[in-house]
Amino acid sequence: MAFTVAIDGPAAAGKGTISKAVAAHFGFAHLDTGLLYRAVARRTLDGVDPVTAAENLRAEDLATDGLRTPEVARAASRVAAMPDVRRALVDFQRAFTLRDGGAVLDGRDIGTVICPDAEVKLYVTASDAVRAHRRHKELVETGHDITLEEVAEDLRQRDARDSARAEAPLRPASDAMVLDTSDMSIDEAIASAIAAVEAQQR
Ligand code: C5P
Repeated sequence: MAFTVAIDGPAAAGKGTISKAVAAHFGFAHLDTGLLYRAVARRTLDGVDPVTAAENLRAEDLATDGLRTPEVARAASRVAAMPDVRRALVDFQRAFTLRDGGAVLDGRDIGTVICPDAEVKLYVTASDAVRAHRRHKELVETGHDITLEEVAEDLRQRDARDSARAEAPLRPASDAMVLDTSDMSIDEAIASAIAAVEAQQR
């Protein structure tokens, strides 16, 4: 039976970590939908038209190296504002929710647009400062030479663009549970998300 957990929120709020842990705990499949936009963006940086890149996206493209760079993240947020790009990626994401055995999808518009009927909807957020620190640590640990101020500015610009766009803007679904992870440890945030899923399974 299909069972969908939709996890949305701004960049670096902890969505990815929480989504992976929830999927592992329940044996659900996990789709990081940001990777779709990053993979499209990667191709546009090579000169491919964004809509053509989105229409021809294959599952293997999500495993391409170099999708986690700040440059690709910026380009992803620009292609993500294009309605035709978003439209081309809807079927891929919805097909993922129809599999048996449960699915966790994380992104910006999963609970609002992609899976408005998801059994569980979480909106994971954290303060700007906490998110910037977390993403900066992650980038430095993976070998990027970037300052905290640069990361904070990147996040600010990306969140502003993601929230202001006309098509599928970043916002919590009206029936989403908001999880502010600013003052939570990773384990506490994961435990809250697991409890929210368990509450819907009863
Ligand atoms: O989550 P991540 O930081 O990898 O997402 C990269 C960009 O892709 C976001 O800034 C956003 O513009 C876009 N995105 C989106 N809708 C999603 C997932 C990501 O617009 N469901």
